[in-house]
Amino acid sequence: TLTAGVVAVQGDVEEHAAAIDRAARERGYEVTVHEIRESGIVPDCDLLAMPGGESTTISRLLHSEGIAPEIRAHVDTGKPLLATCAGLIVASSDANDDRVEELELVDVTVQRNAFGRQKDSFEAPLAIDGLAAPYPAVFIRAPVIDDVGDAEVLAAWDDRPVAVRDGPVVATSFHPELTPDSRVHGLAFFENDAAVVPELEDHQ
Ligand code: GLN
Repeated sequence: TLTAGVVAVQGDVEEHAAAIDRAARERGYEVTVHEIRESGIVPDCDLLAMPGGESTTISRLLHSEGIAPEIRAHVDTGKPLLATCAGLIVASSDANDDRVEELELVDVTVQRNAFGRQKDSFEAPLAIDGLAAPYPAVFIRAPVIDDVGDAEVLAAWDDRPVAVRDGPVVATSFHPELTPDSRVHGLAFFENDAAVVPELEDHQ
């Protein structure tokens, strides 16, 4: 059985836990999902998700609870992380907001709440590298990625990057946990050699 962690200090945690469970089951894996509100759990996790929510709150609690260095260590050892929306903001190298202490796990610069100024939320059929058919991407007060360093752009909408990969990290400005389509979780956790769960065969 795989061990997954969802950063649960704030944000859409249950949706991420359910999406990880569904993505695993659809690929023939069993997974136990832990909600992470304190230090000491992340080191046991094979894969991690950092959800959407409110990035300044998530950042503050990750640092005060001592979870931030554990997430850095997780990624340093090559284990996969999926960071979505506020999670992307926290994982970025520059969030352009003094209240966010970036984890610097994804080499991108972001602007909070900058996407879809006219409409706060929208859904778009998104072409994503590695996926054969468009993905139904839900954007909710999404961050704009306005500078990409070493990260690889996997998808763009309106000429702006909205999904990137940086080593074992996949980050999206949209919310793959809010649609039943598990292919983004598949990309992050199950299908890419660079980000594959260690000893995945042992867990099948
Ligand atoms: N607007 C939120 C922030 O900047 C992110 C939005 C989301 O996660 N849905 O923190």
